[in-house]
Formats: sequence, C-alpha cells, structure tokens
Amino acid sequence: MKESFQYCPICRRVLELGVIDGKERKFCPNCDFIDYKNPLPVAVAIAVKGKKVLMIKRGMAPRKGAWGPPSGFIEVGETPEEACLRELKEETGVSGQVVRLVGVSRLGDKEVYGDMLMVRYLVKVGDEEITPGDEVEDARFFDIAELSDNYAKHLSDLIESNKNDLI
Ligand SMILES: [Zn+2]
Repeated sequence: MKESFQYCPICRRVLELGVIDGKERKFCPNCDFIDYKNPLPVAVAIAVKGKKVLMIKRGMAPRKGAWGPPSGFIEVGETPEEACLRELKEETGVSGQVVRLVGVSRLGDKEVYGDMLMVRYLVKVGDEEITPGDEVEDARFFDIAELSDNYAKHLSDLIESNKNDLI
C-alpha cells in the first residue's frame, strides 16, 4: 500500500494531523501543503479483434500471474486515450484505435496501490504480431467462451452494440 507522507515534501517540516474539508488529513504547519489522498488514474484497454479479446498475464503485483486486460497508469501530459493505447502497445506489442469509453469506476487494491480510478476503453486492434512486454508474462487473444460467464456476457454485449465501429 502507498505510504503516506511523514514530512512535508516541500519544506521538510513534520506534518500534523487535522480536519480539512471535512476529513482527517495530514498538513504542513509551515507551508500550504495538504496531503490529499486521490485515486491513481489507470487506463484500461478492452482490446477486441472480431469476437476475441486481447489479454495479458500480469508479471508484477498486484495480482501477479492473473490474466486481465492491458492497463497502466496515466502519465502527466497524456490523455487517457493516449495512455490506453500506449499501455496496450507496451504490454502486447499491438497498436489499436479507441472506439469508445466503456466506463469509469473505482477499484480498491489492498496489495500495492490503494484506490484506483479505472478508465476503460473499447479498443479495436489489428493483425499485428503479439510481443509481450517486459512487465507481462504472456499475452494472447481469448475467445469469449474462455472467459468467466459474467465477463463473457459483458464483452459479447459490448461487441454487439459496437459492431459497426469494430469492423
Ligand atoms: Zn511544508
């Protein structure tokens, strides 16, 4: 889990605890710094080719060894769409086109990162060769039938309702 600050990252004074904007937060008694806690923004690529979805096997915590969609933190200076396509390319070697925003939701990770804001895009991918990136153990296309029932239903509905943009 993310550590919280003990010292002011600006002026190095020891932070104090107080109620600010209705919540207990650490603040610096010397300068204006307040240790606000915000979720980390993550872009997620639901990368589809025909009726298959491209997934990666995670090489790092959290959920090391689990299969999931390519995803990663949005960097300063890039749009969520750019982050989504960059992570897709880094993790699978495959380029894509954003079709549309699927949804935004909260994910609480107890293992490493704490609260995350997941920005999920439907992405159309082509026929490039898959080359798993350094931070993933594997990457491949899954047939809908290989997925859990809930996710398979969600994905087939998503593909069906966007079929004209996925051709
Ligand atoms: Zn300070």
